[in-house]
Amino acid sequence: MSEVKAEMADWAEGQKVYAGELFLGLYQPSPETAGFWQGVARDELLFKWCAACARHYHPRRIICPQCSSTKLDWKPASGKGKVYSFSEVHRPPTKTFAKGAPYTVGLVETPEGVHYFCRIVAEGGAKIVVDAPAQLEFRELETGQRLPVFVVGGAALK
Ligand SMILES: [Zn+2]
Repeated sequence: MSEVKAEMADWAEGQKVYAGELFLGLYQPSPETAGFWQGVARDELLFKWCAACARHYHPRRIICPQCSSTKLDWKPASGKGKVYSFSEVHRPPTKTFAKGAPYTVGLVETPEGVHYFCRIVAEGGAKIVVDAPAQLEFRELETGQRLPVFVVGGAALK
């Protein structure tokens, strides 16, 4: 379990967040982000849901960006998606990320209407291309964090 998850309980103090050896700053969970990270801790990707206008959205907020309602809830993502855009990283920002390079990051468009930015992984000889079907999985990245990623060509799509 990563340092981030272990320190989630104490909201009074920021927690140090690293991407490998790169210090990113102090992270303080807030009412609009805590539910997301609690979901990630149990391998569940949650999107915000607005009951007033029946829409999902991400990044998470405390007010609906469409109708300004505050009647928001968390709903599990379907786990399905397709590649919307991507970039292959050949020059990673730190030595830690170099362990996984080259790797791909990008936006996955989900049936919920969310464009989710994450690591995109290709398996089984598949190639990451725009509109490629992708399936949600949780993977431990080279930073030691277990995070939601989308997989193209994985067993779940066959
Ligand atoms: Zn709304």
